[in-house]
Amino acid sequence: MNILLIEDDDVLADGLTHTLSDSGYCVTVAKTGTYAEHLLKAEGFDLIVLDLGLPDMDGLQLLRKLRSQKLSLPIMILTARDDLNDRIEGISQGADDYMTKPFELRELEARLHALIRRCYGGFSHIIEVGSLQLDTSSQKILAKGELLSLSAREYAVLELLLMQNGKVISKDKFAQHLSLQGDALTDNAIEVYIHRIRKHIAPYDVGIRTFRGLGYLLENKLND
Ligand code: CA
Repeated sequence: MNILLIEDDDVLADGLTHTLSDSGYCVTVAKTGTYAEHLLKAEGFDLIVLDLGLPDMDGLQLLRKLRSQKLSLPIMILTARDDLNDRIEGISQGADDYMTKPFELRELEARLHALIRRCYGGFSHIIEVGSLQLDTSSQKILAKGELLSLSAREYAVLELLLMQNGKVISKDKFAQHLSLQGDALTDNAIEVYIHRIRKHIAPYDVGIRTFRGLGYLLENKLND
C-alpha cells in the first residue's frame, strides 16, 4: 500500500514514515504542494495524507485542485488548525477524513485503516478474490486462510492485483506501484514476477489472465 505524505515538518514526516513503514506501508514524503503534484502525475499511490499548512500553497487549495482534476484517491487531512470552519471546508472540498495535531499515532493508524477499508474493501478490511484474501490492516495475503509466503516485490505485485480486482492492470502501472517502493522494474522483470505469483497461486481457485498489450487481470477461475 503506497501512501503519499504531504507534510513539510521534518520531525513529523520522519516519525510518521517510521511508524507507517513499520506497519507495512510504503511512504513517500512531499514537502511542498508543487512536489506532491509532480509525484501525483505518476500513478501508484493508494492514499494521501495532507497537511494544510504547506510552504508553497494552502493544503485546501491543493485538495480543491486535485479533486477538480478528478483524482479519486482517499485523502486524510492532517493539520494544526482546529477551527471548525477549516474542518468543514476540508470535508466539503473532498477530504475523506480529518485529524488535528497533536494526535496519537495509534489513532491516525486506526483511521487510515478505516479509510482504506471503506475505499478498497467495501466494509471489510479483507479484500477477497476466490480463496485469496488481502488483509489491508496487517498487510498480509492469505490463501485458504494460510499466509502466502511471498517476497516483498511479489507481495507488492499481488497486492495491486487484489486491490484493483476486476480491472486489467498495465505493466506501466505495476512499474509505478513498485517504483514507489524503490524498485525500477522493466517489463521483463514484471513478467518474471507474474510468472512467480502464478506458481504461488496455482493450487488455488484464482488465476492471472494475460491481455496482450494491455496487462493482467486477477480472476476467480470458478467464475469462468
Ligand atoms: Ca505544515
